Amino acid sequence: MGLTKTIWATPAEYLRVNEPASPVLFFAPAVLQDTARRFIAGFPGLVTYAVKSNPEEVVIENLAAAGVRGFDVASPAEIRLLRRLAPDACLHYNNPVRTRAEIAEAVEFGVRSFSVDSESELAKLSALVPAGAEVSVRFKLPVDGAAYNFGAKFGATVELATVLLARAAAAGFVPSLTFHPGTQCTDAAAWETYIAAAAKIAADAGVRLARLNVGGGFPSHRRAGEPPALEPIFAAIDRATDRAFGADARPALLCEPGRALVAESMTLATRVRAVRDCEHVFLNDGIYGALAELALIGAIDRVAVLSPDGRRRFGAGVERIVFGPTCDSMDRLPGTISLPADVAEDDYVLFHGLGAYSTATCTRFNGFGDLGIATALSLAA
Ligand SMILES: *Cc1c(COP(=O)(O)O)cnc(C)c1O
Repeated sequence: MGLTKTIWATPAEYLRVNEPASPVLFFAPAVLQDTARRFIAGFPGLVTYAVKSNPEEVVIENLAAAGVRGFDVASPAEIRLLRRLAPDACLHYNNPVRTRAEIAEAVEFGVRSFSVDSESELAKLSALVPAGAEVSVRFKLPVDGAAYNFGAKFGATVELATVLLARAAAAGFVPSLTFHPGTQCTDAAAWETYIAAAAKIAADAGVRLARLNVGGGFPSHRRAGEPPALEPIFAAIDRATDRAFGADARPALLCEPGRALVAESMTLATRVRAVRDCEHVFLNDGIYGALAELALIGAIDRVAVLSPDGRRRFGAGVERIVFGPTCDSMDRLPGTISLPADVAEDDYVLFHGLGAYSTATCTRFNGFGDLGIATALSLAA
């Protein structure tokens, strides 16, 4: 993925000049920094960034410049990336299953916060991590509200979490709890339910929590119309913490958003390879590329179509089946997408809100996936 050094006014300006045959992600640093500041101003605790959602160096650098001081990392490669780009940042190693070699390397790099969801992994941490580090027990509940459930892979039951929390405290670790309500979660009630459960786990374990990590899962703007509001979720988290722990005894809060921090800062420009017999639209990107996530959590309909000379098409919307470029029949965007009736070969189809889980999961399947990145002042089409 090549990052061009020039800063363009808009995606249209770049597309007119470069006529790219491969997809391009346009990155607006100002949008990313504004979103980061909105989180820092509004969230009642420490804002950390889940690096996996977009590990591009320009993203990490701009988040650090906007004041993000903590990062949720899942592997030694992410730890090394952060130590290089933001050496003083606080790193939370919140992948609850790690090899012994990975734990040792994290300790070497000065990581002092680890999540855990099993007895066997707590035993590894006890053997390799010095006392005084934070161990944050990850628990899960059967709660709805997110686009897909994160509890399927990680998270201890409430009963096991109670045991693990007491054991972590007894082993001399700083005891904390963490959960993830599931990604693209639009319902604040999910956080409220988890926070109440966290207070009960801590009370049953006889442990005073140092910190409560309320995870990521904050929603980004995926469907046309009003963007989901973050501030009411922040306020609900704040109130729920007071209610559950008491205003005087509440743990420090932290969150670790990925999607909601980074999504809005990037717009993906794809190109129409063909409109097959006036019907199906074939793009140069699809579910094996930067649009991988659409197959998992549904289509994005914040779309604009530009003609090859960069002018916006405003024809009446027609629902189209949209395919990606590979020969795999899975390579189709979910459902249909409304595109202007006059959409034509060589047009650009821009998808807004594509900063999360796009560069990170793009493959080179079938020889496609050569994704460029360009910087733009504005992402308006
Ligand atoms: C993926 C992940 C996140 C970020 O989730 P989003 O839904 O992108 O906000 C946060 N914490 C952990 C532990 C994760 O695995």
